[in-house]
Amino acid sequence: MEKLYEGKAKIVYPGPETGTFRVFYKDDATAFNGQKKAQIGGKGVVNNKVSSELFRYLESHGIPTHFIRELSEREMLVKQVEIVPLEVIVRNRTAGTFSKRYGVEEGIVLKYPLVEFSLKNDALGDPLIYDDAALGLELVNGAELARIKELALRINTLLKEFFAERNLELIDFKLEFGRALTPGPSPKGERGKILLADEISPDTMRLWEFGTGKKMDKDRFRRDLGGVEEAYQEVLRRVIGGTA
Ligand code: 5GP
Repeated sequence: MEKLYEGKAKIVYPGPETGTFRVFYKDDATAFNGQKKAQIGGKGVVNNKVSSELFRYLESHGIPTHFIRELSEREMLVKQVEIVPLEVIVRNRTAGTFSKRYGVEEGIVLKYPLVEFSLKNDALGDPLIYDDAALGLELVNGAELARIKELALRINTLLKEFFAERNLELIDFKLEFGRALTPGPSPKGERGKILLADEISPDTMRLWEFGTGKKMDKDRFRRDLGGVEEAYQEVLRRVIGGTA
């Protein structure tokens, strides 16, 4: 089947129905803007199942997403969207590039959850972008930007609660949003509506175990901490099982 797009962790194919895409999750892992590459055994299956479960959970709590259904262990069916070229990051504690940028240790609880935007551009290393630049460059309009921020914060509240029930603390995560493209299987009038897109998985979140502080996400790969496959499997077990 002809690929429409191949990214670092996923391949997008035309879907079986008008207005849909089929997304295939690979085991390939990259970090530091593609400089570090490897395979994480079973990652594609974990990320597809975790993302599917989280999309279903968020939809059931009123968050509009591109998710339609799981097609197989590694594939999901999604609505076609036009991706907004921003990475939307929500942070509850300091970590990663935030700690580096501002010279602060990791793990400080932020006074309130922060929403941060990066320009989706690998060649430039996804640089931080401020609201006026995103608006001035017409990457989004004002109403879309406000809606994206509102949804990102609501998603944070919902996911924090979901993971706390599984003894995992949601430290930060990255979201991508899209504009609904075609009527297709979407309800009438959905064109242009902002939908949560891409994936939500241990590749795109930081999860620390309550009590032990153990990192249960892609930082195990980025930082050579070992036990990468096991951590991904454990996150899947807790997500599906509903407990720690
Ligand atoms: P940081 O900016 O600290 O590197 O990342 C913040 C959060 O967003 C982390 O949970 C990280 O996994 C996620 N994130 C940021 N940028 C990317 C990206 O380009 N790809 C992926 N998979 N996750 C990202």
